[in-house]
Amino acid sequence: MALRGTNQEFGRPYNRRIVLETIRLHAPITRADIAKRVGLTIQTVSTIIRELETQGFLIARREAPKGRGSPATVLSMNPEGGFAVGVHVTPLGVEAALINLAGAVIGRERRDLPRVDPDTAFSEIKGLVRQLGALRPNGRMLGVGMAMPGPFDVESMSFVGPTTLEGWKDVPVRQSLTLATGLPAFIEIDLAAAAHGERLYGRGSDFRDFYYLYFGVGLGGCMVHDGTALRGAWGNAGEIGHIPVVPEGDLCPCGNRGCLERYLSLEAHERRARVIGEDQWRAEVAPIFRQAIATIENLFDPETIIVGGLAPKPLLSRLVAAASPLPNSIAARRTRTA
Ligand SMILES: [Zn+2]
Repeated sequence: MALRGTNQEFGRPYNRRIVLETIRLHAPITRADIAKRVGLTIQTVSTIIRELETQGFLIARREAPKGRGSPATVLSMNPEGGFAVGVHVTPLGVEAALINLAGAVIGRERRDLPRVDPDTAFSEIKGLVRQLGALRPNGRMLGVGMAMPGPFDVESMSFVGPTTLEGWKDVPVRQSLTLATGLPAFIEIDLAAAAHGERLYGRGSDFRDFYYLYFGVGLGGCMVHDGTALRGAWGNAGEIGHIPVVPEGDLCPCGNRGCLERYLSLEAHERRARVIGEDQWRAEVAPIFRQAIATIENLFDPETIIVGGLAPKPLLSRLVAAASPLPNSIAARRTRTA
């Protein structure tokens, strides 16, 4: 993604963010190179850098001299300059991780709490943040981010069902999170959070356009284009699990029949593989998986589809293998990957 600065007065926080992001992506980097990349003057960049350095977010060091002239100062992120806790609430429980400014996981904890209610969840989160924070007792905690399943605010779709959380409707999640932790809080739908994680630190960093298929208790997905997750008007564009794929198929808690996640999700795997066995389940859902891949490719034209989520990696690898040969679609070129 091209990060360009703005000369507007209100653009200061924005410029700060893109300077920091440019350093994260291209460190070690000089002020002049940053200025060139983001289209700001060296003076504006230097002012921002001074501020970030004073706050301890950056490390500056002199490069070894190359020929004549004084060596340039190069900048990189200070990994220990700040910390944040990421929380994931799923229908299976609560997970939390402490990460540093470079995105490295310092520690993680999980609690198995099936179908957790909000009060229990926030009290657990309070304890988890305290426990993880103790790993860096003098570290500066910048905030807490929480990912949770959607859909958000959809009245016609029932929130009752194995793939969603019950009792969370109308809960002021962000305020409760701040109240529990005393930190600035951010919330995000789980599939978009996972897609962003993949974009920043995973396989997604190699692609400008990719579709992230989130294989959780239910099935979600998210198109990432040029660094942005496409959420739709109400943030629910990722509810791919409720695309009807089998006419007159299984009844879904959303009220429709034959929804994709009734066949392709951890919940479906749990329910069906137990009865007919793992291999048989895979054979049964492979055509449906292929259909999903063709739908995604024809809708979004991604460079690749990345499959991730809560499901164990071996399960996903076997499923991807079973989907071969991939169906014909607009993506049917030789370099196609899934
Ligand atoms: Zn459905």
